[in-house]
Amino acid sequence: MPAAPTKVIALDGPSGSGKSTVARAVARELGWRYVDTGATYRAATLAVLRAGTDLSDPEGIDAVVAGAAIEVSTDPAAAAVRLAGEDVSTVVRGPEVTAAVSAVSAVPSVRTRLVALQREFAGEAGAVLEGRDIGTAVFPEAPVKVFLDASADVRAARRAGDTDAGVEVSGSASSTVAAVAADLARRDRLDSSRATSPLQAAGDAVHLDSSTMDAQQVVDVVLDLARRAGLA
Ligand code: C5P
Repeated sequence: MPAAPTKVIALDGPSGSGKSTVARAVARELGWRYVDTGATYRAATLAVLRAGTDLSDPEGIDAVVAGAAIEVSTDPAAAAVRLAGEDVSTVVRGPEVTAAVSAVSAVPSVRTRLVALQREFAGEAGAVLEGRDIGTAVFPEAPVKVFLDASADVRAARRAGDTDAGVEVSGSASSTVAAVAADLARRDRLDSSRATSPLQAAGDAVHLDSSTMDAQQVVDVVLDLARRAGLA
């Protein structure tokens, strides 16, 4: 008998592509866990900033992350991230963490640690994971892989809060779309050019451009892919 498919849906793509909204809705629909892998990198970055570690010191960064107790809630209706028991869901979305996260997430040993943690959070009963390397590194065997993208303008507008896709804002409320666009371009460049697990579509991922789709349309496509793969 063939082995049952791994009950994982991998949703990758750049910031502002609508991943969070879609991943949460799909997880809710299937009764599965939701894992925001970006939140683990953000919590690790907060730990590094609080420790005062130099961002150009990979060993120092790794030592801090090794000792950091990071937890994400896998309930799609109540996403949250904790560092040493403290709910840091809001602070990790702030400008300090956002500015530093690409440097921390580029450290290979940090990625090894956090990928192991992300697999644990996913469990085995079904999970939707969103990130940059789910289909390539975290669950390369995932039977459904989606690479979600949108035009730079649409992504910046969503991140600046002018959104109908419900994507979280990761800057101050007064951020202009232009400033958000510049920050997204900077992070995309860093995330796409790092040596270990860069932001990259898996060869077998389905590409979706959400520029002119609303969140529900994307959710419907992903659920359809899940059904075809025998997951739902
Ligand atoms: O998804 P989010 O914007 O919260 O991710 C924050 C940062 O975490 C990204 O810019 C990237 O540097 C890192 N990240 C990553 N791999 C993932 C998820 C996020 O490197 N799977």
